[in-house]
Amino acid sequence: MLKTFFYSFLIYWKGTDKLYDYIIIGAGVIGSNIARELCRYQTKVLVLDKENDVANVQSLANSAIVHSGHNPEPGSLKARLSVWGNLLYEQMEEELGIPLLKTGAYVVAHNHHEEQELDKLAELARINQVPEFSILNYEEALLDEPNLSKTVTKVLSLPTTKVTYPWEVAFAAMENAIKNGVEFRKNALVTKIRKVGNVFYVTVNNNQEYQSKYLINAAGVASDDIAGMIEKKVPYTIKGRKGEYFVLDKRVKGFVNHVLYPLPTELGKGVLITPQFHGEILLGPNSLEVKDKYHPTTSYEGLTYVKENAALLADNIPINQIIRSFAGIRSTSDYDDFYIKESLEVKGFYHLGGIDSPGLTACFAIAKYLVEEVMNVGEIYSIDPNFDPLRKKKVLFNRLSLTEKKDLLLKEPLYGNIICKCEKITEKEILDAMHGPLGSNTIKGIKKRTRAGAGLCQGGYCEEKIIKMIAKEFNISPLEIAYDKEETKLFVAETKVKP
Ligand SMILES: Cc1cc2nc3c(=O)[nH]c(=O)nc-3n(C[C@H](O)[C@H](O)[C@H](O)COP(=O)(O)OP(=O)(O)OC[C@H]3O[C@@H](n4cnc5c(N)ncnc54)[C@H](O)[C@@H]3O)c2cc1C
Repeated sequence: MLKTFFYSFLIYWKGTDKLYDYIIIGAGVIGSNIARELCRYQTKVLVLDKENDVANVQSLANSAIVHSGHNPEPGSLKARLSVWGNLLYEQMEEELGIPLLKTGAYVVAHNHHEEQELDKLAELARINQVPEFSILNYEEALLDEPNLSKTVTKVLSLPTTKVTYPWEVAFAAMENAIKNGVEFRKNALVTKIRKVGNVFYVTVNNNQEYQSKYLINAAGVASDDIAGMIEKKVPYTIKGRKGEYFVLDKRVKGFVNHVLYPLPTELGKGVLITPQFHGEILLGPNSLEVKDKYHPTTSYEGLTYVKENAALLADNIPINQIIRSFAGIRSTSDYDDFYIKESLEVKGFYHLGGIDSPGLTACFAIAKYLVEEVMNVGEIYSIDPNFDPLRKKKVLFNRLSLTEKKDLLLKEPLYGNIICKCEKITEKEILDAMHGPLGSNTIKGIKKRTRAGAGLCQGGYCEEKIIKMIAKEFNISPLEIAYDKEETKLFVAETKVKP
């Protein structure tokens, strides 16, 4: 008995003895897509993330835009991978069921000086091989964008700009990677890395160790800190840049049809107005360097700046429809481009540093670039003939036609019970989110997967119902249910004695 306990403890302490081919640190859109790309080969892959879910950091809080690739410096990785990434979204819509809203975008100019800048931007778009762009005068632009500010004189039209649903990009890639054999550990904070001989030893939560032949650092804002665990001189420093947003309720759907950009500055693409896949509209973001790159917070000053600058793009913004605000922190580095390279000091350790915007746009291309061109995985491992690139498209019940709804209801009556009234999310969709390949039993996890709680009432109506569903499905007490991480439990104690 004692002996069994001792050996179980030893296995827990040391982690698994399995040697992985690749360990990826970080399960945002970048790490998840790299995991999926590696499945094309006969490899054993483990993904570690400190969060209680996939896509909980930068990949959760951004503008959701698949940029056309019009403004990165020509010749940079950002330019090449964003134009390529934009194209790949069309393919991934088919393969993985990635949500895509084909909005196009307008970059606006307000005067002669800005029109000259717009011409320069169009020239950048040409050099970067952005398809189909053109300059339109105000009257032409107004035809498709009736609320465009009257102060606008010309726009650069970028028809290939689209909008996605960012965390679904990570879910889709990770679900498909898991289906193809990848292992994913959440709540796995990497605390130490060492390399002995040809093997990396990655310690998680200070007590478990995993081993791999290669190590990939896709840790977003933490990528320089992760690199610092194994390199003496990290080739870049992350300088977190905060972006704050307002969310307007989906009742304003159609207020703008395109992504509206101001002219870019050295701080980035500026405050935008962005229609979202599910109908809301985002105002933001600003761009402020922050000391604490791990804790995004909104501020009165930041959001006032957002409001004032959004007003330069469109007239009569329905500010009274704001339902929430949020902030995200970009993993901007002092390298001035994506840093996607093997370490100069430690063979087999790969950096994905400085993956700020347009990282969401470029994520599919970044994964392919790393696997095929930087790591040359095809020269090390054979192709896996069993790789299945397809993921079943999710049912979005509220988007179906009446006939489709009726047909589905006959097969599955639980689609008939609406749990989230604002977003019209059904009991069946919530159950699928709980028990899917990347299932969740937290309020935030269910919200990310289904949008239950993301609408006008922000969960005021449905949260209680979802708590009851989680308690029943996982056979746990409501006292054990968390909003997100273990330390965010919703209740501290019962207040009434049961009859
Ligand atoms: C405000 C804002 C707006 C943006 N808008 C756009 C846009 O419209 N279009 C666009 O293309 N791009 C945009 N971006 C950029 C885009 O969001 C990022 O490039 C992309 O999400 C980066 O993904 P990632 O996987 O590298 O990072 P993340 O999503 O941050 O993932 C990194 C992961 O590493 C994990 N991790 C960190 N440390 C550890 C550790 N010690 N142990 C284990 N795990 C760890 C984290 O938990 C996290 O899940 C925006 C970014 C921001 C912040």
